[in-house]
Amino acid sequence: MTAQNVAVKDVAVVGAGPAGLFAAEIIARAGHRVTVYERMPSPARKFLLAGRGGLNLTHSEPIENFLPRYGAAAEKVRTAVEAFPPSALIDWANGLGAETFIGSSGRVFPRAMKASPLLRAWLRRLNELGVVIKTRHRWTGFTAEGGHSFKTPEGPIAIRPDATLFALGGASWPKLGSDAHWVETFKSAGIPVTPLGAANCGVLIEWSEIFRSRFEGTALKRIALTFEGITTRGEAIVTRTGLEGGAIYALVPNLRAALRAHQSVTLSVDLKPDIEHSVLAERLAKPRGKETLTNFLRKAAHLDPPALALVREGGASLPEGADALAARIKSVPLTITGLAAIDRAISTAGGIGWLALTDELMVKDHPGLFAAGEMLDWEAPTGGYLLQATFATATRAANGLLAWLATAETE
Ligand SMILES: Cc1cc2nc3c(=O)[nH]c(=O)nc-3n(C[C@H](O)[C@H](O)[C@H](O)COP(=O)(O)OP(=O)(O)OC[C@H]3O[C@@H](n4cnc5c(N)ncnc54)[C@H](O)[C@@H]3O)c2cc1C
Repeated sequence: MTAQNVAVKDVAVVGAGPAGLFAAEIIARAGHRVTVYERMPSPARKFLLAGRGGLNLTHSEPIENFLPRYGAAAEKVRTAVEAFPPSALIDWANGLGAETFIGSSGRVFPRAMKASPLLRAWLRRLNELGVVIKTRHRWTGFTAEGGHSFKTPEGPIAIRPDATLFALGGASWPKLGSDAHWVETFKSAGIPVTPLGAANCGVLIEWSEIFRSRFEGTALKRIALTFEGITTRGEAIVTRTGLEGGAIYALVPNLRAALRAHQSVTLSVDLKPDIEHSVLAERLAKPRGKETLTNFLRKAAHLDPPALALVREGGASLPEGADALAARIKSVPLTITGLAAIDRAISTAGGIGWLALTDELMVKDHPGLFAAGEMLDWEAPTGGYLLQATFATATRAANGLLAWLATAETE
């Protein structure tokens, strides 16, 4: 279908995050009249926040490594990402003047390391395509006539577009707009929603007062964390209530599942993952002389202050003997009592269940109603996988909507 021969339809996109804006771009390019409704005073606030961390758009690893990041449960996300791969997202960003580069970790960022120039260029493009963005319009529900109701500064309104694409996001950082109020409304309309939970979030640990007061805000660097046989490497930041950071985030899906069954679970921290146990034990077997044990450990095992304190955290007495000491350093047990609140999580697990959606991301039993982005039931680690899936599902849903409009036209 080209913009020249299309029968122009009215399409509503609800939610002006990256999923909604990208879907709007695709649908407007096909020649339809697109209105985006956004509850906040300005679009894409979470996207701008993601920009504060450099805006990790996607990842450069080979696609066969990339796709498993979405886990077995997200076959549909994988299909969408296969159809709209990292190279397509990079081309799109480059096309908006946001030239990208690959960082040392393989992550892809815009050179500007922020989202605002990209967003400005994108909003200009959408404006040129005729997309209208109505801010301060909060979607409040479905109308009896098959349309939608909104709360606006001028009072409630109702609309009845030819097709609708929802991109309302998850539940993290609600003050930026995505407060997940849609969940109850969708469920009342018979659309199954997997309960939302924090993803890429911190974990809760009851630190001793002395450890917390000394090390809150400091990093445990170059550590390895193991839970249920899965090991992640990286760093973790000590927070008032526990730990956060990339190495932790990658374990959150397993921790969440385990914490559903148990009040607390134990994570193992290897403070020296690059040194074999036997090598470490050999170093620790050297005579200590008059050194305090702390000084000896600091020098022999090269432990920095937070790592040293972690070995002794929780009042644990240190084991006797080089072998046992090495074992402790390579496997400090940490009791996790929960996941940090979703308010500050980077992303959300759960969302509209896949069984409720067609392959084209149309809500079954609700013809003409599509959904994309973080409001769908998937999760992935940080590293660019979140925005990649957001753009890819937006592409799939927008193309599905276009195909549905074309079919509806010929029926
Ligand atoms: C601190 C932080 C850093 C991040 N960094 C990265 C990163 O570097 N790389 C990466 O891949 N991902 C990152 N993410 C995740 C990424 O920002 C999200 O995956 C992405 O924004 C999801 O896009 P979305 O369009 O689905 O949802 P959202 O961006 O949440 O957009 C949904 C929109 O819908 C609007 N809305 C909600 N309810 C209503 C309603 N009832 N009526 C009207 N409008 C409504 C909201 O106001 C919002 O504008 C980060 C997230 C956070 C919090």
